[in-house]
Amino acid sequence: MSKNVVMIGAGVANVNAATKLIDNGFDGKITIIDMGKDPYLRPYEEVMTGFLGAGGWSDGKLTYHTSIGGQLSKYCGEDKAMELMDQVIENFKRFHPKPEEVQCSNPVEEPDFIKPYFGLRLFPVWHVGTDYLHEIGKNWYDFLVDNGVQFEWEAKVTDIDFKNNTGKVVVLESDLEHSFEYDTLIFGVGKSGIDFGKQLAEKYDLPTEPKPVQIGVRFEAPQKHFQKLIDVSYDFKLYRKYEDKGVSLRSFCTNNNAAYVAVEETYGDHSYNGHAKKDEAFRNDMTNFGILMEVQGIDKPFDWSRDVVKKLQIDGTGLYYSPSRKPSTTSEGVNVSAIQVDTLHKISKSMQPYFMYVYDFIEDMKKVFPTLKDDWGIYVPEVKYLSPEPLVDYANLALTKYPNVHFVGDALSARGITVSGAQGTYVAESLLEN
Ligand SMILES: Cc1cc2nc3c(=O)[nH]c(=O)nc-3n(C[C@H](O)[C@H](O)[C@H](O)COP(=O)(O)OP(=O)(O)OC[C@H]3O[C@@H](n4cnc5c(N)ncnc54)[C@H](O)[C@@H]3O)c2cc1C
Repeated sequence: MSKNVVMIGAGVANVNAATKLIDNGFDGKITIIDMGKDPYLRPYEEVMTGFLGAGGWSDGKLTYHTSIGGQLSKYCGEDKAMELMDQVIENFKRFHPKPEEVQCSNPVEEPDFIKPYFGLRLFPVWHVGTDYLHEIGKNWYDFLVDNGVQFEWEAKVTDIDFKNNTGKVVVLESDLEHSFEYDTLIFGVGKSGIDFGKQLAEKYDLPTEPKPVQIGVRFEAPQKHFQKLIDVSYDFKLYRKYEDKGVSLRSFCTNNNAAYVAVEETYGDHSYNGHAKKDEAFRNDMTNFGILMEVQGIDKPFDWSRDVVKKLQIDGTGLYYSPSRKPSTTSEGVNVSAIQVDTLHKISKSMQPYFMYVYDFIEDMKKVFPTLKDDWGIYVPEVKYLSPEPLVDYANLALTKYPNVHFVGDALSARGITVSGAQGTYVAESLLEN
């Protein structure tokens, strides 16, 4: 078994990995290096860094389904994925000062009026309670320290030599640099280390997983048309899949009550997103959500998406189409930047042959929500540029080129606490089995 395990990042992925190793009597050395602070010193405003990483100071919602939170079952199958997520939830309860308060909200059944046109994704969520995350962090940290885990805080890893199993660390306070050695490395730098991950991927020419394209529109309509569904699920997730075509669609990031469409500028082009204001003063009784298509099998998906987004620009901004409405205003009261087009021709041509799936989605929403009729508009495009995911051995999440280097959490393919923690646990299990 590997005797010197170094973990980069003290986020939920690595904290769960270290816990699994300790619980199973691992007798080697475990070192965790993090550029943030320990849970006793970490201030609230440091949202992304420090003990438990972004997860430590998050909303404390532990999603409990393999279709949410990024990839897990792809590596280990459905049953194992659920078992790994159970372990993460148990850990949060174990270090919780009041474990009996950790509650699971169970979804209601899919309402009949949605069928047969759409699926509605409803999934269980465990609520840890934001107020308790500090205490959980401290209890968990004490457990790891008491069991011999060594931590290096406020220490940023700036380089890793995968060929010689060494790395460089800069101590942030003093700017002094030192190096470390490892037998096994677990790379769990989360979103705050995404650029570092990319940098290493380029330096070592790491093979990556092909990523699907995610592109579509931001749909907007008066909320009243969707109220029946909002009452069931505030952030509803409608979806449908065309298995044989490699295309799936989902509604994404629903905003209600005081809901505004926002322009995003990426690589110099405009695309759209949405947000909701909490303050009643901003109430506009609108609903907006993305209708995002995931398209498999497109060669060079990033280039393809960039090209489509470019084609959907006029005069340096995106497009708006509606059979009856005008673009809305932002929460600051200015018009959402978009050029209104009278027909769907340009949109359909730019996204060909895929726009018809979005069109059908809207047509079927008109059947499910009969008052909707022509009272809607779309801002085009909405796009998610997915960062490349390093190719790993599915059995242990180790880089295919460097089998003693494992990627976990948001640095791999996760997007949430439970899946990140589960990936860390999965790697620890593979080390224990070895
Ligand atoms: C505000 C907010 C709210 C969220 N709410 C939820 C929620 O309610 N439910 C949910 O499931 N998910 C939530 N998330 C997402 C969730 O927190 C992450 O998916 C999860 O924390 C990822 O775990 P990780 O271990 O991969 O990385 P992280 O938890 O992000 O940890 C990565 C760690 O690596 C360290 N690091 C990065 N680069 C370096 C480097 N070069 N050298 C040394 N250390 C480095 C960072 O300091 C950090 O501590 C939220 C995220 C945010 C930002």
